[in-house]
Amino acid sequence: MSKVLDPNHVRAQFPILTREVNGKPLVYLDHAASAQKPVPVIEAQREYLMHYHSNVHRGVHALSQQATDAFEHARTIVQRHIGAASSSEIIWMAGATDGINLVAQAWGRENISKGDVILITEMEHHANIVPWQMLAEERGAHVEAVGVLDDGTLDLQDFQEKLKVNPKLVAFTHISNTLGTINDAKQLTAWAQAAGAKVLIDGSQAVPHAAVDVQDLGCDFYVFSGHKSYGPTGIGVLYGRQSLLESMRPWKGGGEMIDVVSIRNGTTYAGLPHKFEAGTPHISGAIGLGVALTWLNGLGVESVMDHETVLAAQARHGLRKLEGMRFIGTAPESAGVVSFVVDGVHPYDIGTLLDSQGVAVRTGHHCTQPLMERFAVSGTVRASFGAYNTLQEVDTFVAATERAVNMLRA
Ligand code: PMP
Repeated sequence: MSKVLDPNHVRAQFPILTREVNGKPLVYLDHAASAQKPVPVIEAQREYLMHYHSNVHRGVHALSQQATDAFEHARTIVQRHIGAASSSEIIWMAGATDGINLVAQAWGRENISKGDVILITEMEHHANIVPWQMLAEERGAHVEAVGVLDDGTLDLQDFQEKLKVNPKLVAFTHISNTLGTINDAKQLTAWAQAAGAKVLIDGSQAVPHAAVDVQDLGCDFYVFSGHKSYGPTGIGVLYGRQSLLESMRPWKGGGEMIDVVSIRNGTTYAGLPHKFEAGTPHISGAIGLGVALTWLNGLGVESVMDHETVLAAQARHGLRKLEGMRFIGTAPESAGVVSFVVDGVHPYDIGTLLDSQGVAVRTGHHCTQPLMERFAVSGTVRASFGAYNTLQEVDTFVAATERAVNMLRA
């Protein structure tokens, strides 16, 4: 049994949540786009900038060593948090998008050939679609997508059917940012690998809400962004299986990623993980992300997930009463995301009226245009929850939505 989370205790650690927006207390329901930051994360970055900022790995001086220690310690925190076998398998990236692009460029260009299939799903974020399309175009390969059922679950029959062509790579999201659907990532990985594919999982929406163990999942690559997991923007992680990372050529060249550089004899590369980390990294970001994951662990990620599930259920319960309400994504296994459209009312107009009442939600396609096409909508209103949201906020949101819809229909 996970312990019950007290969101008011959590909220007290988020200075931004005390502010007002348009004269009303802020109700922040846009976690899936980016999470707010708790004081320890803000303080850790401030501490670094105030007291020991220096470049990492290069200096013998005290500041550089302190910065390097903190930076590498953060890598170890990430390793433990996602259950990787070694910290060499943790590559600092600018975010999930950056990680997927690295795999597409460094692994994809060497391993994807003419006629090959890259299998994704219809519920992917554009970050897990476009890099594969770019790669496929360059290599003469094809991108195919597994369908989504009416309730927003992945069509498993279609998944197995599409594996019959033996795709080289299968890339799918662990949790959908638009539908909230939780995919059975372990099962999908096993099926894909049995068909001979390498597997990349987009964990952007999973790491902030669920326990992740990459060894248990058995995947080849796993990516996530720091900023959705209470950490800073501009930092993220690519996990790759060690043997696979070792077999890959680096993508970006520059300082930090080399062993010896010679104009005459050419260049040899550093070992993992530095081989993929050209240039000065986002040092304060990495340190902040380490603190964010430690903080999240302190809450207990299962408790966070349970709490968010209760919030989402209460939101659905309240919204269901509105005439013309249609939820997009009602899968039995889903995380704290509620996406909907209301007959005859534009999502953007609802979002604008909610903002005027201090409620921050996201409207539009959520970088999942193929999913919008699948559900024949131009966009949705999406409320997404974090550890700091309360049931009272859900009630405020539901009442504000009702007012907005009534006004727009009047
Ligand atoms: N994948 C998913 C499922 C996401 O929700 C997002 C962010 N909305 C991304 C990838 C891209 O993350 P970033 O922009 O931080 O690289």
